[in-house]
Amino acid sequence: GGGVGVVVGGGGGAVGAAGGGGIGTAVHPVQHHHHPAAPYFPSPAPAAAAAAASVQIHAAAAAKVHQLDIEPDRPIGYGAFGVVWSVTDPRDGKRVALKKMPNVFQNLVSCKRVFRELKMLCFFKHDNVLSALDMLQPPHIDYFEEIYVVTELMQSDLHKIIVSPQPLSSDHVKVFLYQILRGLKYLHSAGILHRDIKPGNLLVNSNCVLKICDFGLARVEELDESRHMTQEVVTQYYRAPEILMGSRHYTNAIDIWSVGCIFAELLGRRILFQAQSPIQQLDLITDLLGTPSLEAMRTACEGAKAHILRGPHKQPSLPVLYTLSSQATHEAVHLLCRMLVFDPSKRISAKDALAHPYLDEGRLRYHTCMCKCCYTTSTGRVYTNDFEPITNPKFDDGFEKNLTSVRQVKELIHQFILEQQKGNRVPLCINPQSAAFKSFISSTVAQPSEMPPSPLVWE
Ligand SMILES: [Zn+2]
Repeated sequence: GGGVGVVVGGGGGAVGAAGGGGIGTAVHPVQHHHHPAAPYFPSPAPAAAAAAASVQIHAAAAAKVHQLDIEPDRPIGYGAFGVVWSVTDPRDGKRVALKKMPNVFQNLVSCKRVFRELKMLCFFKHDNVLSALDMLQPPHIDYFEEIYVVTELMQSDLHKIIVSPQPLSSDHVKVFLYQILRGLKYLHSAGILHRDIKPGNLLVNSNCVLKICDFGLARVEELDESRHMTQEVVTQYYRAPEILMGSRHYTNAIDIWSVGCIFAELLGRRILFQAQSPIQQLDLITDLLGTPSLEAMRTACEGAKAHILRGPHKQPSLPVLYTLSSQATHEAVHLLCRMLVFDPSKRISAKDALAHPYLDEGRLRYHTCMCKCCYTTSTGRVYTNDFEPITNPKFDDGFEKNLTSVRQVKELIHQFILEQQKGNRVPLCINPQSAAFKSFISSTVAQPSEMPPSPLVWE
């Protein structure tokens, strides 16, 4: 019985909010003279009044009475495409995460990427996928430069847990892997490829509930094999062989490869294929799996194929997976070998992986004491009739078709955010006068070193 506990660090303990509590506690007299049009300062009326008014944007002075400000208190993470801080929702006192998406409107590519991510975050309804709880009220479009998304606050992530000294039992590994695959089955059923599954993008709370996050690189699967897809995907260590070999088209099997690498990392507590370059990455993979057949390389580019065929013929050495840890049982290694398959068309799907006996215990544990889909009555546990739900209909990316200018996408995003808030609770704004506001607003993101490395150009 009992839950699986994880000790979480509490986010590093950097306390940012001087004085704490209360709206506008931080005294920064006339600071905002320097922000003549401080974004997010113009403020909304309560939902009821907003619904009555045809225009929701009021002058700052008039609306101040009804304003519900939130204050960022400390940074909790740095994703590829945004800064995340913890905040307290003044409407219910709950601690939530606030993500700033900066520099959204610099160019059309960035606008489209962020619009897609916002649409996805608002579409998701699954306990193992991070979704938007809310978005901050945007200012008038003339001052609209940044987007803030409120999500559930998670204390840690799988990367921090793997590199920590904390022991991970086989129960931990099973319940984490179960939830990763449960979330991924849902995403793939929506037609979405995550494309950057890595331990740092798998958030974990103190109860071991896991949520897939960071959809900055996610996109809808391309069913037409003649259409080329960008190769700017997936942090190198978790990058599938078909991408390393320059395939112009790939499928959701790339996410399963990443999960296989993470499964091995959970067992061995170290990165499975830790190479210095994309070529070495491929070499490490073939060291384990052996030289792939021509059939398995059929989508590879000629240069990559030539590299493989030039090299020595390698025999597979999969039995070394048993040496990852004492938890690498026959069942564990069997499932792992179904994920780490060179040919993406032969790699196991998330749905089929969930049917593997290795995950039975993880499923039982999750639905006995961690999920929100089952419940307990005086006579016992009442289980859901669908342990791993999918979505229907799929995520529709049709909105991306006719996006042609920054101004147009900006207007559409502005409108989208206002639509999401319709009928909701009192809209939230950020408090530009709080002590932490300035450091939050100036937090930097996406250091070049944090970005996925560029793919190798083979020819
Ligand atoms: Zn359940």
